Order: sequence, then C-alpha cells, then structure tokens
Amino acid sequence: MQTLTMTPESIIQETVRAYKEYHNPSLARLLKLSGFDTIEWEAEGTRVRDIRGKEYIDCLGGYGVFALGHRHPKVVQAVKAQLDRMPLSSKVFFSKPLADLCTKLAKLTPGDLQFSFLANSGTEAVEGALKLARLSTGKREVIHADNAFHGKTLGALSASGRPQYKTPFEPLLPDFVQVPFGDVNAIEQAMNDQTAAIILEPIQGEGGICVPPPQYLPKIRELCTEKKVLLVLDEVQTGLGRTGQWFACQHFNVVPDILVLAKALGGGVMPIGAFVGTKEVWEAFKANPLIHTSTFGGNPLACAAALATLEVMEEENLPAKALERGKFLAHELRQLAKSFPDIIKEVRGLGLLLGIELTEAKYGGYLIPEMARKGVLVAYTLNQPKVIRLEPPLIITEEEIKMVVGALQATLEKTRIFFGQRGE
Ligand code: PLP
Repeated sequence: MQTLTMTPESIIQETVRAYKEYHNPSLARLLKLSGFDTIEWEAEGTRVRDIRGKEYIDCLGGYGVFALGHRHPKVVQAVKAQLDRMPLSSKVFFSKPLADLCTKLAKLTPGDLQFSFLANSGTEAVEGALKLARLSTGKREVIHADNAFHGKTLGALSASGRPQYKTPFEPLLPDFVQVPFGDVNAIEQAMNDQTAAIILEPIQGEGGICVPPPQYLPKIRELCTEKKVLLVLDEVQTGLGRTGQWFACQHFNVVPDILVLAKALGGGVMPIGAFVGTKEVWEAFKANPLIHTSTFGGNPLACAAALATLEVMEEENLPAKALERGKFLAHELRQLAKSFPDIIKEVRGLGLLLGIELTEAKYGGYLIPEMARKGVLVAYTLNQPKVIRLEPPLIITEEEIKMVVGALQATLEKTRIFFGQRGE
C-alpha cells in the first residue's frame, strides 16, 4: 500500500538504500556506476521498462535467459495453468510435466543423449554432471579450461577459470586440472588414467565469447572416446538456439556424453537447469535412484515453463532466426568496428551470442552506461572485462537491431570525444 503513495524517485532511493544496508553495498555502487541506477519494473518481448517508464531494448537478455524475450504469452499461460493445478511436487508420485520434459529433451538433444536430471540453475546442473562423471567412470580427475565459467558453487567453481572468483575460496575440489582453451595438445597431455571427464563450453561465454578452432571439439571427442574419458559440454549459455543451432556442439558435429542446460530452458519465466546423459553414463545412477536428488529440481511449474519454451522455439524456428539475425548484427557491428579501430579490436561469436572486444577495458566503463542512457542494455562478460557481450532475445527484429547499432555508433562517437578530450 505504501508503494502506491510513493514517487518513483523515492522508491528508487529506498531500494538502493536497502541494497546498501541489507543486501550488497558494493553491488549497489557498481550498478550506479554502470548507469543502471533505476528499478526494473516491467518487461515484454525484447523490452524492459524501468519504474520511471523509460524503455530499454534488452541486448543482455539476462545473460541468455530471455531467448523468447520477456513473458512469452505461451510460457506464461502454461505456468499459470500449472500454478492453478499443482505448482510444486509432492515428491512421492510420478510427475507428468517432468516426464514430458525429459522425453522432449531426449528427442531434441543430439545423438544418443537420452536421460535427464532436472535442477534449478546452471551451476547446480554442472554439479550434477560432474558427480555423474565421477560416479560413471570411477575416476576423479576433471580437465577444464582457462577462463571457463561454469557457475559459482564449489564444484562448478573448481572447473571455472578465473582466479579472481576462485582464489578466495581455496582449497576448492581436488583433482581439477586447468588447461588453455582451444589447445588440443594441452588436453591430451593433461589426460591420464585417472581422468574422469573434460568439461568445456563449446563457445566460451563469460570468457569473452571465444569460438574455438573448428577441429578443436571434434578432436577432443575422438580423444575422449579413445581414452574412455567423458566429454561434458556446458551449454548453459550456448544451448537452445542461441548460436543458431539448437545446441552449439552441432556446429562442430560433436555429441557429448553429458550436456548441461539452464538459462533459456525456463523461457525467461521460471528458473530451471538440466543435465542430459547417454544411457551408458546413466547406468551409474541405477544402483541407487536417490543418490542425486533435489527438492525443487524438476518441479511442475519449471517443467511446464520449459516444455512450453521448447514448443515455442520449434514453432517459431528460433535457432534459424538466431542464425539469420546474428549474421546481420555481426555484419553491422563489423562495419562499425572498421570506423572505430581505436576502440573496437574485434567482433566475434556465433548466432546471437556476440562479443565486441575493446582495445582497452576503460572504454567499457563509459560505453555501457551511455548505451543504457540511449535505451540499450549491454554488459561485460564476467571473466573478460574487455569484451562487451550482445545477447538479445532471439525474437529481436531487424528494425530493433538497426536501433541498437545506431545507438552504438552514437555511443562510440561520444566515447572517442570523451577520451580524446582527456588526452587518452
Ligand atoms: N555455465 C555457463 C556456461 C554459464 O554461462 C553460467 C552462467 O552464466 C553457468 C554455468 C551458471 O549458471 P547459473 O548462474 O544459473 O548458476
């Protein structure tokens, strides 16, 4: 009731104060510095509106959550229907939404991936995948890549690659071996008779939108098969159409033993994660059906959202749309890069997972808030602050892409003047 009598400005002040006093003071400072010193209020499709009524094109897309945009009506409807019937599971009976979703995932995922475990987030799904890899092989070691991002719980963090997030929490899990991303020899050398799995993102997202050489994943697949090591591909960010294929591994014709999903799977409406494995690896769960469980994982609301999401993706042919729109956006960005070689080093990525590598990280600190002022949301990649990522909903139109590129051009011009005046 009190909210109704307050002005937007006073609600913003109260909320920022609550962040400072009761949540995360340095995050409050960071959000203010990044130009996000307002409250998100409502959202629809590609647009987010703040409490002041200002509209933004969401080119960050919740780090890949909003593949369908915000509040896709079919997903919202499916969740509402499930909410009115039975939102959470009794945990004793069979659940139809869970069974339907696992069936759908088996059909959609490539090769002989068949069984799914449903979790609540990306990092939880990664934890499950790592546990399954150890259980299935009876071995301990996990090889992972520099700059990888797999989440921030202890197991997923152990497989991640940025010291800034890891060092304060050491010792992390033992027997995790880090190698450079994109280097097959490094992986071959790190493999031994105790290697259970290699975990990789097919395209590194938070590491700075890094696409590996074309032969990298196929060669690793061969090595894994030969040495009986499991290949775990983390497609939390790249999966479900983002890169222009249903799964990024399909660009490389590679099928992992375990595939990890989250983010877009909930259709931007519910949180959900999953790891999907072959019949062979799933054998390990047979001895004890309760060896890996989750109270909320696979709950009916999240499964209803995910099922509707996958249906919409099929109906609207979103992977193909992402490929086409991504080509257009990448082309436009590369044109801009030619005019601003002093600020943009490279544009890279696949589909609608695109990164702009800046010549110096300092430009991002100016560019991101300026883009927000111009009504476009973008952000850094978490492990590589020199790279600005563009990860809009896959439903973004060509018209909107032109608006984004126009805003970026004006911002780059301003950035050049700003740093020029400072003599930098
Ligand atoms: N794996 C990848 C590739 C990610 O990009 C992320 C998050 O950005 C995660 C795992 C962790 O997901 P969550 O934040 O849902 O735990």
